This record gives sequence, structure tokens and C-alpha cells, in this order.
Amino acid sequence: MLDIVNFITRPARYTGIEPNRIIKDPDEVSVRFALCFPDLYEVGMSYYGFFLLYGIANSVQSVWCERCFAPWSDMDTYLRQNGRPLTTLESRTPLSAMDMIGFSLSYELNITNILNMLDLAGIPLRAEDRKKGPIVVGGGPSMLNPAPFQKFFDIIVIGEADKKLPEILHVLKTLKGEPHEKVIGGLAQLEGVYSPLFPKTPVRRQFVEDLDDSYHPTRPPIPVVGSIHDRFNVEISRGCGNGCRFCLAGFGYRPYRERSFEKLKEIIDLGMQGTGYEEISLLSLSSGDYTSLFDTIAYIKERYRGVSVSLPSLKIGSIREREISLMGDIARTGFTFALESATEGMRCRINKNIDVDVLLGQLPLLKQYGWRKLKLYLMVGFPWETEEDFLAIKEILSPFEKERININLSVSPFIPKPHTPFQWLPMENEVILSEKISMIRKILKGRRVKVKYRDPRTSLVEAIVARGDSRLWPLFEYLFHKGVKLEAWREYFQPALYDEWFNQQGISIEDYLGKKPIESALPWDIVDTGIDKSFLAHEFILAEAGKKTGDCYTGCASCGIGCTESGQTRDSSFSAVRSAFVENPVQDFKLSQFEIQNSKLKIDTSSIQTPAHAEVPADRPNCERIPGIKYTFRYGKYGDARYIGHLDMMNILLRAFRSLGITIRTHGKFHPMPKISLSDALPIGIESTCELIEIETDTGILIHEKMIGEINKILPKGTKILEFIKGSIQNMGKDYSYLLIADKSIDMELWKLGYNSKWHFYTWKGKGIKELRAKGDFQRIIKVEDRRIHGLRADN
Ligand code: SF4
Repeated sequence: MLDIVNFITRPARYTGIEPNRIIKDPDEVSVRFALCFPDLYEVGMSYYGFFLLYGIANSVQSVWCERCFAPWSDMDTYLRQNGRPLTTLESRTPLSAMDMIGFSLSYELNITNILNMLDLAGIPLRAEDRKKGPIVVGGGPSMLNPAPFQKFFDIIVIGEADKKLPEILHVLKTLKGEPHEKVIGGLAQLEGVYSPLFPKTPVRRQFVEDLDDSYHPTRPPIPVVGSIHDRFNVEISRGCGNGCRFCLAGFGYRPYRERSFEKLKEIIDLGMQGTGYEEISLLSLSSGDYTSLFDTIAYIKERYRGVSVSLPSLKIGSIREREISLMGDIARTGFTFALESATEGMRCRINKNIDVDVLLGQLPLLKQYGWRKLKLYLMVGFPWETEEDFLAIKEILSPFEKERININLSVSPFIPKPHTPFQWLPMENEVILSEKISMIRKILKGRRVKVKYRDPRTSLVEAIVARGDSRLWPLFEYLFHKGVKLEAWREYFQPALYDEWFNQQGISIEDYLGKKPIESALPWDIVDTGIDKSFLAHEFILAEAGKKTGDCYTGCASCGIGCTESGQTRDSSFSAVRSAFVENPVQDFKLSQFEIQNSKLKIDTSSIQTPAHAEVPADRPNCERIPGIKYTFRYGKYGDARYIGHLDMMNILLRAFRSLGITIRTHGKFHPMPKISLSDALPIGIESTCELIEIETDTGILIHEKMIGEINKILPKGTKILEFIKGSIQNMGKDYSYLLIADKSIDMELWKLGYNSKWHFYTWKGKGIKELRAKGDFQRIIKVEDRRIHGLRADN
């Protein structure tokens, strides 16, 4: 049992007791792999890509993949002061005892977290200093420019790791026991793998060709601490065909690929059984471009009543009235649209091919379906900007104000990222960025708009690192030695230290932020994304001329990927639908697209015969449908589960109920919330045998005794439903006391039950239990029903 000291915040992060975590016998595997996320648990546990790799690695025979996250500063200090190493969550094995540890870098500034995690694990930071111990692998979107980070990794996977990770693990199995350098040399021979120790460039970016043929997680571990995005992520497509010239994701993840609607249905059904989440997010770089978006939302709405659907950032005009009305009563979150610029002239330069009038025409409908708030993204700092671009913001927002729709405007500085047509552009300087932001602030003063600005300093530092070269790695070591970590969290971001290092080294920051000649070699040329550099240059010239390029849905601009030549990425139905989009005016399109979709990809109504809230998985005990009814459950929290917070525990229980087909009635028209009642909050760190939760079932599912065993199987380790009644929480006894266990005699006003050779037992009734725990005298405090405390023996 973990003994986490009182001052550690959110201790459940470190327990590793989540439902769906994968536990294997260490004696029966030959490769141990720690998948590390260089940020907090709550962030990592929201990432689809993290669970994708976790599932893929664990599906490789005789490999056990475990998780590890960056600790928050309090735990970091505690580990260092007590000489404890950083461990995996599942088996609490030190990272240094693994065969391989992998980091996915999706935010450049998290590189200092990687160094800190290596150090906490007792692993040398530089690859050249590691002669034994685990192989350190890097990957993720930021590694499309590995130059500034390469010193710290034995190998770096360039691009999507879906197919590459199993290959790496197989090589590792084969070469296990060989000298470190030989293992790295073996891995470096794989296509798409870059090793600074055995450099061969350029390295070809990897991507999967057929999403239907690739793994999708359906039983990800369910967080025991509320994470940033607590939902079941369904990846509907990968890549983006829009070609926005500033967007690394748009160019770095080409080509555009879709999962079929048939495959999505399978994933959604398995995922809902495996997680019981109350929200499904349809992940894509531009969800509105997904061919079967309407069908997918309709399927979820029909089959999973009470479950909401969310769509990440949307291209304006890509979501239609049909989807808006369908989502009306099942969306808990609002829509987010990427506007990027308020003028058509600037949108031509950045190749943002949108029709703002479509969104303005949809405002009455959005309002009708309960959306009173929308989020818009705007970018600032493009070199061609004039005052007109800023004044137009006011104009573009007026119709929203007239419709009384609140706007949350998010303004971010433009960063010229590698591998995009804007890679040669300079980054705007801090003074001008701040002036431009002030201008927007002034223009929008007193309007119905809430504006959030990204700090220009953060963007400038991000630009330096993203555009970094091989001279930059000592900067990260310098920052690490200065104690820098968790830089994604505002309170820990230290931009002055970057200036300090550049000054000390006599290196000009302009080398990283300045304009680059179009013919010059770039640090990231060691990666071949598959897109011709001449194509990027041509796009840059078109931007200068204010001309757009068509998207990959309606044609092919011949970027070099060659996907239209091989025909790998689109099927005929997709092309047909896309052609319809081009040929039909927006108003006609709504119907025509749907007809085309239906003629080819009909919703399989045979599979929607029974709504999911009445369906119970085949291997589960059956339930009988009766009108809605209240049930109250008494559950216990023991051992490490004592660190799970009250509301997190509620969510875990509700998800377990849902995954067994027990749907819960909701209230609220547009933002439905489950009808539940709970016993008083139990302080973190205290165990209990008598927590209560009352639910009201949606359509009246009769819960049988046998189902409790099934629910308990999918709860976190240390939590258990002990009994249930049909009826309200008021009908369950609520008289309780606390059983306190100490390893020494305690001199306090407590009622002593007794002691044995090791433990002293006391009871306490009334308020102040949190304070008693804070004293730190008791190893365990357990809330127990009064009726059960009598008869307890000291050796229990
Ligand atoms: S080859 Fe054509 S369709 Fe494929 S990603 Fe490039 S521009 Fe788009």
C-alpha cells in the first residue's frame, strides 16, 4: 500500500489503480517498456495517442508496457529528498530497470520535463553517457524537428508509431542482452527511426495508410483523477486536407485518412462497454470534414441516450444544420471554430478556405438548440497584417452580438513552424505582438466578447525551440540544472533563463526567430515528411501573392506525398461525396451529400434494434426493463483507493454502471446531468466501508445481485460495492464512526478499542477527522458504520 504524505496534492495520480490498466506477470514477459508522458497525469490521461501506444505495445507478445507521468513539484521534491526513484504506475518498478522507456513530445517546452524524469529515474541525460540501462526513445509531433533534442535520445521515431512500435519491440526482444550500442545500432536500421549515434539522413516520416486496418484503443485506463478531457476519444480521421499554410499538424500528418463508419460503430460500441464514459469526442484535425459525421452522431444519439458528443476545433462551414440540430440536446460542450483571421485577404494568404457567411447564417439555429456561447480562434503576427485586419474583428463579431451569442475569442501569436510553407518566415517580435494584442483589446473593449490572449513570450520561446538546431541542446541542460520543469504551467515558465543562456553563449536569438533564405539548408531537413520542399516554396510564393490552393478533398495540389497516385487514402464514396461538396452550392449540398452517403453507407438499422440503455453485453447477467427506479449502493474504499477524491469516485462509479448498460436518468435540457445523490464527502486519505451513492435509472433497469460482482470487476483496485437497496439514500443507515490504527500508543482523547503486537486501535465519532489525519499519527483511518464497529477485534 502506498503511503503518500499529507502535503502531496492529488495523490491518486500516483496510485496506478485505474480500471482497464494492464497488469502482466513480470516473469512471463521478456521486454519491459515504460511509456512516459512528459507532463502531469491529468494531461497525459487525456491523450488519445498515449493510449494508442499503450494498447499497441501491450498487444505485442511477451511485452509489458506500463505508464509513467511527470510528477508535480511537491512529489518531485519528496522523491528527491527521500532518495526515491521515479517508477512506473502499474508495477511501481523504477524506470532504470526497464528495457526501454519512451517519451512522446507534443509540446516543445516539455523537453525539460523529459530531462527531469530521466534524472529522477537515475538515468544519464545524454545518450552518449548511457552504456547500459533502458533504451531511451523519443517520438511525437515535436520530433518532426529532432535536431535540438537528439542528444538525449538513443533513437527517435519520426512520424506515426502505430506500425513502428511493434517492430522496435521485436528488435529489442531479439537483441536483448547484447551490448547497448549493438541494440541501438539494430534499432537504427529500421525505416523511420533516427539515431543520433548512427545518423542516416534524411529519415522518412512514417504514417499508416489504412486507418481501418490499424489499432484503436477501446479499453483505455480510466483516470482516477479528473483529467483535462475526461471522455472516450474516437479517432474518426487523421491528417487534414485543408492545407492551412501555418499549420504543422496539417502538413506533418498528411495525407488525410478516414476510418469507415462501419469501423467507427464497432469502436464506439466496444469503447462504451469498456469505459462507460458520458462523453464521446470525435477526434480529427477538422471533424466537420469527416464524410460520415452525421451518421456517426446519429448512431451515438440513437444508441447511447444520455451520452454527449463533442467535436474538437471545426472548420467554419464544415458543420451543417443537420449536424447542429442532431447535436442540439446531446452536446455538453460548445462549438469551437478556427477563424484565424477576420479578413478574406489574409485568409487567402494563409490558405484558410472558409465562408464566414455560412456560420453567420447558422446562428439562429445554434441559438435555438441552446448554444449561447461559441469559441473562436484567431491568430496574430502574420507579416502581411494591416490595421484593417484588426478593425475587421469588430465587424465580424457584430452578428454574434446581435444574436446575443457570447463569444470566447482565443488569440494566439503565429509561429512559423518547420515543414510548413511558412517555415522561412520570421517570427514577429515581442513588442509588435504586444502592440497588436493591445489593439485587439482596445477594439473589443465593452463588447460581448471574452478575449483570451496567449502570452507572446511563451510563443517566442516555443518558436525558438521548434525551429531549433543541434546547438540548442545545452540550453535544455542549462534549464534543467536551474531547476526548470513543468513549463507548460504558467507558474513554472521562466523565459528570463532562455535570454540568460543566449547572452552567456553569445548566440543570437535571431538565428532562430529570423527570416530564413528560401534556398538555405534547414535544421529539420534531416526529416523527409514526404512533402516536396519545392511544393512548400511554391505555397509560400502563393501566400505572398495572396492566392489560395485547393484542398485535398476536391483535388490534388501534388504536394509530393503521392496519395492520389496510389489511391491509398480515399475510397470512391469519399471522392463522390467530396465532389458533391464542390459541385453543389452550400444550400443544396446539405441534402445531396446526405443522399450520396445514404446510398453508399446506409446506417445499419439492424444493429440499432435495441437502444444501448436496455442492452447488456452478451457475457453480462441480464437485466429486466421496468419503469425508472432509485437504487442506493454502499461501497468501500480501501488501501490506495483512499486517495481517490469524492467527485472522481462518483464519476468512476457512474462509468462502471454505464459500461454495464445501466443508464442513469438525467436532468437539464441542453446540458444533461445525471440524477444522483451522494453521502457527505470523505476526506482524501481516509478509507471507508460505508460510502453511499443513489442513482435513478433511466428506463428502469432492474439491477440484480449478480451484477454487483460484474461492476466490482471494473472498479479501481481497492474499491468495491458491498450492498445495494432498491430505494433512496435516505433508506440506508448513516450512523458511522472512524476506526483509527496507529503503530504506537496515542495520547489523545480517543476511545481505545485495543491493540496487538503491532497495531493500536482507536475509534472516533464526530467532526475533525481531517485534522486528526493531518497530525500524521495514524497509519490508517477507516470510516465504519456504527452497527459494525462493535465486535471488532484488535487483530482484525
Ligand atoms: S498528394 Fe495531393 S491529395 Fe495527397 S496530400 Fe498531397 S496534395 Fe493532398
